[in-house]
Amino acid sequence: MGKPRIVAEFAATRWLRRWRDRDALEAHQLRLLRRQIRFWRRHSRRFADVPADAGLADLPTMDKASMMAGFDDLVTVPLTRAQAEELALSGERSRDFTGDLAGCSVGLSSGTTGHRGLFVVSPAERDAWAGTVLARTLPPHRLWGHRIALFLRADNTLYESVGSRAVTFSYFDLYAPEAENLARLGAFAPTILVAPPSMLRRIADAVARGDLTLAPERVYAVAEVLDPRDAAHIRAAMNLPVLHQLYQCTEGFLAHTCAHGVLHLNEDHVIIEREPLDERRFVPVVTDLRRRAQPIVRYRLGDVLVARETPCLCGSVLSALERIEGREDDTLLLPSADGTPTPVFADLVSRALVHADGFEEYRVRQVGREALDVEISPYSAQAEASVRTELATLWRQLGVRPPATAFLPYRSVVGTKLRRVERAWRGDDADAAL
Ligand SMILES: [Zn+2]
Repeated sequence: MGKPRIVAEFAATRWLRRWRDRDALEAHQLRLLRRQIRFWRRHSRRFADVPADAGLADLPTMDKASMMAGFDDLVTVPLTRAQAEELALSGERSRDFTGDLAGCSVGLSSGTTGHRGLFVVSPAERDAWAGTVLARTLPPHRLWGHRIALFLRADNTLYESVGSRAVTFSYFDLYAPEAENLARLGAFAPTILVAPPSMLRRIADAVARGDLTLAPERVYAVAEVLDPRDAAHIRAAMNLPVLHQLYQCTEGFLAHTCAHGVLHLNEDHVIIEREPLDERRFVPVVTDLRRRAQPIVRYRLGDVLVARETPCLCGSVLSALERIEGREDDTLLLPSADGTPTPVFADLVSRALVHADGFEEYRVRQVGREALDVEISPYSAQAEASVRTELATLWRQLGVRPPATAFLPYRSVVGTKLRRVERAWRGDDADAAL
């Protein structure tokens, strides 16, 4: 870690910011928030009218659509949405992500729905981010000499800022031919492997077949919902005691797993307000306490998170999560006995299918008001029967009318974000009820 800013952030995140208790953490958040509000009022047109003594609850909320619509007024650096989009798109086309704008890195988010998000990060923010990610990622017993392999959909200059003598990064393009990627991965011999679960699964299969030898100290799942079946498969094939996760999106680095493999919110850098969906599920509303080029303020993320019921054994004051469930708009919506649309959370479907046997991969898509398509691989009549049994149990437990369920051949997706449970049907009722 050659850069002082990265080292400083690394050290602060790793060793200095140890909160005595929850109150100490919240006092720290409040200090950072006050500083942010002062900055936003001066530098962002969107926040110019906010009173000096405003608290979090006084600030307007935003989501992807309003953030993008008001982008030019929001950012505190001299650039426009049109310029940023043009640069980010040309980077995606050429797979060259070295360009910058007003000194900032610019990228597009790999959103799963509709419009894409845009992010703008200054060099200082990039270093702080890199220091934080490293502090959360590197194993406790050894900090030096790590080789980190990153499988990403789109690179941006974020990761390049981190390479140094202490850690070497190697970037693998998910769009590159798989055989080429796996050969390079074997030669690189990563000590830390970071990839979406769909890619980890293919790497794990290559390891299990004996086509690839790897001995990473840690493996991180990123960028896609980690399905419990996939997690079990990857852990078994790669012989991992814990499969770690990083929850990182355009809106920030939001959660990481501790040594126990439990997800914790990065509440030393972000405030997460909770919009409850039921007793434990909530939609996070994110305020970033560090980023300034592009303020992220009370940003409604549209993901569904599940709070953990019991405290984590690691003793961290950072809130623990049970899991990240996926996109809010992938929540299935099935009519109950009296016809009322009832949300069926994606993870209820995935966890029901943990009990089904005879297949490796699956996809469940709601394609109509009362219609599901199910793909399983490999297909067999027995596997279909097993899936039908588990789904029937789930519908009964939830009191929803069993939807017409068709079994189709499994389509493998490479490059796009894998969603095992998806709502492809968008009815009027669906919009009204969610
Ligand atoms: Zn923990």
